[in-house]
Amino acid sequence: MTKETDGSLPQFWDVVIAGGSLSGLLYGVALKRQGRSVCILEQAKSARTNTAAGIGIGYHGQKYLEQYDLVKTPFWYYVDGSQVLDTQGNFRFKAKKKFNMTSWDALFYRLRANFDGYDSGYCAIPSEPPSAGHVKYLPDKRVTGFDVVGDIVRVNYQDVQDHSEATLETSLLIGADGINSTIRKILAPRVELNYSGFVAWRGTVPEMEVSPKAREAFTGLYNCPLPDRAGYVVAYAIPGKKGALEIGSRELNLVWYTEESKDILVDSDGYKHRTTLPKGKMPAHVWTEQLKKAGKMFQPYREVCEKIEQPFISTVNDCMAPRISWHGGKVVLAGEASLLMRPNAGSSFETASFALLEFINGDKHWESSVRYNNHKNQAMAKMFGEYSLYGLWKLSIWWTLFKFIGLKRAVLQNLIA
Ligand SMILES: Cc1cc2nc3c(=O)[nH]c(=O)nc-3n(C[C@H](O)[C@H](O)[C@H](O)COP(=O)(O)OP(=O)(O)OC[C@H]3O[C@@H](n4cnc5c(N)ncnc54)[C@H](O)[C@@H]3O)c2cc1C
Repeated sequence: MTKETDGSLPQFWDVVIAGGSLSGLLYGVALKRQGRSVCILEQAKSARTNTAAGIGIGYHGQKYLEQYDLVKTPFWYYVDGSQVLDTQGNFRFKAKKKFNMTSWDALFYRLRANFDGYDSGYCAIPSEPPSAGHVKYLPDKRVTGFDVVGDIVRVNYQDVQDHSEATLETSLLIGADGINSTIRKILAPRVELNYSGFVAWRGTVPEMEVSPKAREAFTGLYNCPLPDRAGYVVAYAIPGKKGALEIGSRELNLVWYTEESKDILVDSDGYKHRTTLPKGKMPAHVWTEQLKKAGKMFQPYREVCEKIEQPFISTVNDCMAPRISWHGGKVVLAGEASLLMRPNAGSSFETASFALLEFINGDKHWESSVRYNNHKNQAMAKMFGEYSLYGLWKLSIWWTLFKFIGLKRAVLQNLIA
């Protein structure tokens, strides 16, 4: 039976956010600092574990953190571009994008500290300016739908534990509920997740468990295409336990992209997963077979591959919502609910940060600017993935598309002006 509120909870919030992962928190912190009351509804529990991979914080992510992270201490290390290596480890060229590298959990808990002062042990809890709005982070709450009634959005949700249902009211609902977004399915039911045809084999190894030579091969961000359609490897270090950055306490992270059928997601119990075959569930023979294909890999990366104890697989999908805001701006999509790039090429948080900064600035063209950026980043990510997997010939196709999108924007801007 539906009840009106959750008892102690205020019924009305300036902002309600579906999904309390990176994008939900990104918006939550910024809107709270504008003095708005913000309630985040998250279907998972409060404490989260990472899936062992890095998050790249680019120019806009850094700009966001400079403005909104009141903890201020660094939780990343600097990467001066992505270097492409051949299979012997020789330098081929460098993509000049500069960014900071961190781990999913270090970023998540930094945002939590800023949003609701959650004490994770990863960082200090900042003191909030008196102008900050009231906030609540509600774990175990799954958003099931919404109705727009005049200026009010009524958000329906369910308690994951006891299945009780409740409703909150708001003037702004943000759907930051990830790739299978419930909010997006309601707004744009025809948008589907497209499987790219390739997967990422992933895993980490503590840096002190490998040889000095292997450690040296993780001092930056490296991309290493393999011959004979054996895919490509991306290698970098990420912070260790509780976000530790000291050399010796970090994890070496290896992501190996290969073309596969989705049947690879069948686990050791015979269950077929939708997007990720989780740690500890991969049948032993599957990883043994995969390691045989590592023969031509740059030796330090092969060493790390062989030392990964619990590899897991994520499929590489893409998906883009046709718009960012609906119902006169009362419902907005954020993060991967709005755009999922393939591969994410370290740009997921960066793209979400760009969208947030445009949204907060409130320029009348913010939505077209975000949509353009989404198209541009998706084209760039595809180009990067195709080049790394197949070599140069497909690069030109994506480059042409990219130029076309740029041209389209220039024409549209002229029309608007
Ligand atoms: C626990 C976790 C660990 C991750 N670890 C890594 C990592 O180590 N490296 C990496 O590159 N990426 C990782 N990712 C993915 C990464 O966070 C995202 O790819 C990216 O940062 C985009 O974030 P997002 O907030 O847009 O989407 P997501 O991170 O996918 O977040 C969506 C959130 O919405 C919640 N949600 C979904 N539906 C509902 C609903 N109906 N009601 C309420 N809540 C809902 C989900 O539980 C989730 O917390 C992880 C994601 C999660 C959830």
